[in-house]
Amino acid sequence: MLILIVEDEIHLCSYLKKNLEAEGFSVDVAQDGLTGLELALSGAYDAITLDIMLPGMNGYEVCGKLRQAGIGTPILMLTAKDGEYDEADALDIGADDFLRKPFSLVVLIARIRALLRREGVARSAKLAVAGIEIDQRARSVSREGVPIELTPREFALLEYLMHNVGSTLSKAQILDHVWSPSFVGDENVVEVYIGYLRKKVDAPFGKKSIVTVRGVGYRLEEDE
Ligand code: CA
Repeated sequence: MLILIVEDEIHLCSYLKKNLEAEGFSVDVAQDGLTGLELALSGAYDAITLDIMLPGMNGYEVCGKLRQAGIGTPILMLTAKDGEYDEADALDIGADDFLRKPFSLVVLIARIRALLRREGVARSAKLAVAGIEIDQRARSVSREGVPIELTPREFALLEYLMHNVGSTLSKAQILDHVWSPSFVGDENVVEVYIGYLRKKVDAPFGKKSIVTVRGVGYRLEEDE
C-alpha cells in the first residue's frame, strides 16, 4: 500500500513516514501543496494524508483539484486545532475523513486502514439500481444513460443507498457511513442532502426512487 503524506512540518513529516513504514506501508512525502498535488495527480497512491495549512497551495485546494481531475484516492485531512477551517468544509470538498491535530499515531493508522478498506470495497464494482448507474472507480453517475453531476458528498450518499437497496437506513447510519463516525453536528444535514439527491437523480426522470420512511430513515427502491 502506497501512502502520500502532504505535510510541511518537517519533524511531523518524518515521524509519520517512519511510523507508517514500520506498519508496512510504502510512503512518499511532499512538503508543499503544489508538489503534493503533482504527485497525487498520478493516481498512484492508495491513500493520502493532507495537511490544510501548506505553503504553495492549501490542502483544500489540493483536495478540490484532485477531485475535479477525477482522482478518487481516499484523503484523510489533518486539521489544525483552532484553524480557520472546520471539518465540515474538509468533507464537503471531497475529503473522506479528517483528523484534528494533535492526533495519536494509533488513531491515524486506524483511520488510514479504515479508508483503505472502504476503498477496496469501492473499487470492486459498478452498481445499477432502478436505471441509476454508478461507477465507483470513476465516481460517475447516470440514469437511463443521462449523465448526472453530483458533489462528492451526494455521490457517497447515493452510493451508500445503492449498496443497501431495499433496506431502510437511519439518519445515524447514514451519518456514520457518508460523513464520519466522528461527525458532530445536526443530523438534519442528511435530510438536506437527500433533498439534493432527489432533485438530481429522481425529479428530472419523473421518479421517486428515494423514499422517506417516516420516523425511521430513507430507502432506495428498485422499480417494480
Ligand atoms: Ca501545516
